Amino acid sequence: MASGESQTAAAARPRVLVVEDNGAGRRIVTRTLANCDCVEAELGSEALSCLAAQPFDLVLLDLGLPDIDGFEVLAQIRANPQLDSLPVIVVTARGNIAEIVRGFEFRADDYVIKPFRPQELQARVQSALRVKFLQDELRALNQNLESEVRARTAQLLAQQQFALVGRNSAQLAHNLNSPLTALMGYLEIALARPADEREELIQKARDVADELQAIIGRLLLGVRSRDMMVEEGRPTDLCDLIVRQIGFWQVHPQFRYKVRVSQQLQPVPKVVIVASDFNQILTNLIDNALYALRERGDARLTFTTTVEDGRVVVGVADNGCGVAPEHLARIFEPQFTTKPVGEGTGLGLASCYELAQACGGHLEVHSELGRGTTFRLLLPPA
Ligand code: CA
Repeated sequence: MASGESQTAAAARPRVLVVEDNGAGRRIVTRTLANCDCVEAELGSEALSCLAAQPFDLVLLDLGLPDIDGFEVLAQIRANPQLDSLPVIVVTARGNIAEIVRGFEFRADDYVIKPFRPQELQARVQSALRVKFLQDELRALNQNLESEVRARTAQLLAQQQFALVGRNSAQLAHNLNSPLTALMGYLEIALARPADEREELIQKARDVADELQAIIGRLLLGVRSRDMMVEEGRPTDLCDLIVRQIGFWQVHPQFRYKVRVSQQLQPVPKVVIVASDFNQILTNLIDNALYALRERGDARLTFTTTVEDGRVVVGVADNGCGVAPEHLARIFEPQFTTKPVGEGTGLGLASCYELAQACGGHLEVHSELGRGTTFRLLLPPA
């Protein structure tokens, strides 16, 4: 404990290198700076070795040295990045103004003229040390600040990634929810029916379960490789898929009883696509249309297939509330929603847009406030 205390006390004392070839002169300096830990060097080369071996807070440098000239010692100190900011006070004989000027040219911090009064040397040393310690403090503060900025940046990046995971989870939940609702609907209706009428409903439930399995399978594949997802596409008749989806949606009370569904499906060329991708897009568009139609008396939902400019176009049109122009521009942005809190994740349409792009196609929207909205999915033929 006692040694610990003495170490602390020693560490608090400024370390000064006294470079002076005159022994009596060195001892006077050391005695004058009684509050400092002084190390004495007789030669220029010795001074440079001391500086290389241990840290100092200040150098008192005699210019007239027998081996290396004091200016050369100073030049070597300033050329060393480790010692560049070490304060140096040059000590020179009375009246040698040329040496003082030259010392400042070599970036000496101050000068003392021999012979000096003890109070003068003490005052100049204290002043140089005060500046040095303030600079050290400033450097330490800067380093702290830098490490704080680095830590804060890392924290922000982690938060962003966390938000991304949350967004993807919301999207995943959204894409799985509609088929799951259909599946539960079929099973509930089946349970309410006599046993001999259940088979068809159970078969439909089975189809939806297959659909869910396909979505989950593709999600798992997607985790491993996005490219593999693209490779899975097959030439597919979109009219078949639309008719099947409309069948699934019959379990939805609003779709079945409150909306007049019309199918204007022209035969169109097959499209290379993964069926569950197309089903996800269509499910989201239907979900969106039903929301827009929820307060409409004569609700109509129209599915179309056409060929335009060589591309297969699937249309989903409703005569619902429509989308305001300022909202329409942002409709495919993730997290954008006009639905009240709790009713929309805002991810359905963004997810559709991304999926359409991933399938080599494009999703567009036309809408008129109070008159309805049409989504058009454009895909290249096989
Ligand atoms: Ca000398």
